[in-house]
Amino acid sequence: MGKRLQNSKGQKTRKIVDRCDLCGGELRRGETTLELWIGGELLVIKDVPADVCRQCDEAYISAKVSGRLDHFLAEHHRYRPDRYIGVPEYSALHTIGR
Ligand SMILES: [Zn+2]
Repeated sequence: MGKRLQNSKGQKTRKIVDRCDLCGGELRRGETTLELWIGGELLVIKDVPADVCRQCDEAYISAKVSGRLDHFLAEHHRYRPDRYIGVPEYSALHTIGR
């Protein structure tokens, strides 16, 4: 499941299209979950409005939503998160090797 989105902090916004860039599948209105590193913090943002590919699940976020997301990210510390989740971290050094 991919997310096609980058903002000023490394995301890229995509123009609205009716076909998936990757597989040519049909897009439908839906939501996606974003995982973004912001200033050394990993943030998970659920229920982000997006056009989602019916075939491969690639999510396309409009410039409008991306702009609102940028505003939120700039001041996310003012908002109380819905919950905190633990995230396991591994190093390839000790797992898959080099
Ligand atoms: Zn697709």
